[in-house]
Amino acid sequence: MSETIEKVKCLIIGSGPAGYTAAIYASRANMFPVLYQGTQPGGQLTTTTEVDNFPGYPEGISGPEMMIELQKQAERFGTDIRDGWITKVDFSGSVHKVWVNETTEIHCDTVIISTGATAKYLGLESEQKYLQLGGGVSACAVCDGFFYKNQEVVIVGAGDSACEEAHYLSNLCTKVTMLVRRDEFRASKIMAARVKNTENIEIMFNTETDEVLGDGQVVTGVRAKNNITGDTIDIPATGFFVAIGHKPNTDIFKDYLDLDETGYIINVPGTSKTNIEGVFVSGDAADHVYRQAVTAAGTGCMAALDAERYLAAKESTVGV
Ligand code: NDP
Repeated sequence: MSETIEKVKCLIIGSGPAGYTAAIYASRANMFPVLYQGTQPGGQLTTTTEVDNFPGYPEGISGPEMMIELQKQAERFGTDIRDGWITKVDFSGSVHKVWVNETTEIHCDTVIISTGATAKYLGLESEQKYLQLGGGVSACAVCDGFFYKNQEVVIVGAGDSACEEAHYLSNLCTKVTMLVRRDEFRASKIMAARVKNTENIEIMFNTETDEVLGDGQVVTGVRAKNNITGDTIDIPATGFFVAIGHKPNTDIFKDYLDLDETGYIINVPGTSKTNIEGVFVSGDAADHVYRQAVTAAGTGCMAALDAERYLAAKESTVGV
C-alpha cells in the first residue's frame, strides 16, 4: 500500500510526439498535466537519425533533438515531466488509479495513454550494430527511405507493412530486394500483387537474413540464406529495412481497455476516447496504419481536447 496518494487532473503516460503534444495542449488548458516519460524518454524518435518529414523543420532535425524541443515546449507551459514507469493501472472505478514503479499510487481524473509501439527487429548482432550506429538499418521506410534515393536496399517481411514499404521504397530506390521467409506472403492478395507487379522489386521466397554486412560504419549489403537449400548470397545494399511488425506497448491496460488481436487500443472512431470514460489514447498505441510522428502529434492534440471537454462536462454537472 502506498504511503501517500497524489491526485492529478490529467496524467499522460509516454513521452513521444503524442504525449508531448497532449501535454502542450493540456497545460495550456490549465489541466496541470503530469507526464511520465517511461523507459525510453522521447520514444521511438530517439532511435531515428534525421527527421525530414515533420512540418516546420525545413532543414530537417535529428529525432533526439526534436524530442528535446517538444519536451521544452511542454515544460514552457508548466507540464510536470517525471522519470518513471507506469507498472499497473486500475480503471474499474470512477477515479482512475495508476501506479508508478510498483509503489507510488496516483489518482487521476483523466488519463492520456501515449505509450507507443515498438518495432520488431530480427535480433541479429549485425542488425543491432548498424541500427545503433544509425548506419543503414531502419524499421520505417516512410521515415528513412529518402536517404536511400537512387540506391539499392533490402527489406525483410511479408505482411501488409512490408509490401507497403517495399512499394514505397521502389519509387525512390533503383532496386528493392524483398526477403520472405516462407514460400508465400502473409499480406493481403492486393498488396502482394502490387509488389509482385513492380519491376524493380525482386522477391526472394524461402529466404532469411543471415547477416547484415557493412564496413564498420554503414551497411554495404545483406547475406541472405535460402532456408531450403542452405545456399547463401550476398546482396549489395546501402539500406536494410525491417518490416516484421510492431508491438503496441499496451500490456498493462489489457484488463480494462478494448484491444484488437495485436494489442492496439481500440478508440471510438474519429476521437481519442477508449471504452473507459476519462481514459484517452493517442499515437501509435492505437494506430497500426499511419505510425508517423505528425499523426501521433495530431492525436495527442485530440486526446488533450477530448480530456478537457470531458472534465468540463463533468464539472458542469456537479451540483445539477
Ligand atoms: P504482420 O504481423 O501482419 O506481418 C509480419 C510479417 O513479418 C510476416 O509476414 C512474418 O512472416 C514476417 N516475420 C516475422 N518475424 C520474422 C522474422 N524473424 N524473419 C522474417 N520474417 C518475419 O505485421 P504487419 O506490420 O505487416 O501488419 C500488422 C497489421 O497491420 C496487419 O493486420 C496488417 O494487415 C495491418 N496493416 C494494414 C495496412 C493497410 O491496410 N494499408 C498497412 C500495414 C499494416 P510469416 O508470414 O512467415 O509469419
